[in-house]
Amino acid sequence: MASDCLFCKIVEGSIPSFKVYEDEATYAFLDINPVNLGHTLVVPKRHFTNIYELPEQELSALTQTTQRIAKVLKELRADGVNIIINNDVAAGQAVFHAHTHVIPRYTDDGYRHWRGPVQPPEAMERMRAELYNKLSDL
Ligand code: 5GP
Ligand code: ZN
Repeated sequence: MASDCLFCKIVEGSIPSFKVYEDEATYAFLDINPVNLGHTLVVPKRHFTNIYELPEQELSALTQTTQRIAKVLKELRADGVNIIINNDVAAGQAVFHAHTHVIPRYTDDGYRHWRGPVQPPEAMERMRAELYNKLSDL
């Protein structure tokens, strides 16, 4: 547990939360400022800053709980579900304990999706090669 971490405190119960699920490795609770009601955060119980640091076992547990909650939100009433992980400030991360957002979506909820401009083929090829080469080194 990181002593100054909000989500560690939620997991250990010293800060209250609307818990929806818990197992050995993960804890899930309602986001205090939801996109839509039912917006759930899933965290590994152990403290990791973000996805880069997650060991395989924790990542797998986090993914399983996230999928479970997505399925239940859909069964209950959602038309769709967004699953998001923000990593680093530039990507909107505000709490530095790894977590997934599981967000119920509705056909008429009025939210839009991110889209940038279509990129020229040369830029696409440069990017592809950069990624491909790095990934092949792993
Ligand atoms: P991030 O931007 O780091 O991906 O997401 C952090 C999320 O935590 C935000 O959606 C925010 O509403 C939620 N949050 C911040 N403080 C609290 C809190 O004290 N309790 C709960 N349940 N959610 C919180
Ligand atoms: Zn933590």
